[in-house]
Amino acid sequence: AKGQGKARFKLFESTMHERLVERIDREARLRDAVPGGELRLHLQPVVDLVDRRMRGVEALVRWEDPELGLLPPAAFIPLAEETGLVVDIDRWVLVEACRTLRNWRDRAPDTAPSWISVNISAAHLELPDLTDHVAQALAASGLPADCLVLEVTETVLMSDIAVSSTRLEQLRRLGVRIAIDDFGTGYSSLGYLRDIPVDVLKIDRSFITGLVDSTRQRDLVTAVVQLGHTLGLRVVVEGVEDEAQLAVLVAIGCRLAQGYHLGRPELAESLAGRMATATVL
Ligand code: C2E
Ligand code: CA
Ligand code: CA
Ligand code: CA
Repeated sequence: AKGQGKARFKLFESTMHERLVERIDREARLRDAVPGGELRLHLQPVVDLVDRRMRGVEALVRWEDPELGLLPPAAFIPLAEETGLVVDIDRWVLVEACRTLRNWRDRAPDTAPSWISVNISAAHLELPDLTDHVAQALAASGLPADCLVLEVTETVLMSDIAVSSTRLEQLRRLGVRIAIDDFGTGYSSLGYLRDIPVDVLKIDRSFITGLVDSTRQRDLVTAVVQLGHTLGLRVVVEGVEDEAQLAVLVAIGCRLAQGYHLGRPELAESLAGRMATATVL
């Protein structure tokens, strides 16, 4: 039995070793992603449910590693957060997002969306430099500040409410809009909605699953949408995957939505190309 234990420990050691090697390799590759031009920006439409027109887009990053292929954020954002590389990634996304919308508006003012939203990581929100990074991205692209929305998750916001509100005030002064991402998933009081300058609430996808079958779920979403509207906020529902969910959302007075049913994330050129031939998604 003792020998078996030893063997098992050896096995444990060697998997630990492999994981460590893999992590070091992944980190070295990731360090190269921004300077190597390996990041890609995908855009997902935010649609007005009344006329089915695209109003905005959310910028979602992908990493195209030469060997590993196209990777979703879940495969590298956690490591990027641990290593601090996420700030470089966020900055790249900011610059690229502003540039993309500016070009789109120049080329196709009639079909281009009114705003682009960018996800801001916890590490970046903590940095006083964030405000400069945003100002630089706007200046470099010439995009009007009110076309840029910064998305911050409720959990990140609540982790240091004092820092968050200071930073968001600074950003607001630049003229950009602030969205609370994944609204309803963090353990938080609603009090911060009174103290923090917010323009948009994005209701998390988990509230939309089960919307069609559960009256309770529907009542909850109705109440949250109304709360947002009463506070004068724009409310966006995330994760709409079928027509039945859409019908319920329209019935409860929800105006803006995002989800695979309305459009999957795709490269700007391909989205702009489709929009040029059809104004309705
Ligand atoms: P998020 O900000 O909540 O982004 C929405 C995620 O939901 C995206 O996943 C999107 O592709 C996915 N999604 C959209 N519609 C549907 C739907 O109808 N059904 C389902 N099942 N999923 C849908 P993605 O692109 O994999 O991004 C995941 C997360 O990674 C994002 O969640 C965000 O937290 C983070 N992320 C993405 N881009 C960036 C970035 O540039 N910087 C930072 N810091 N984080 C990012
Ligand atoms: Ca590389
Ligand atoms: Ca988001
Ligand atoms: Ca979200």
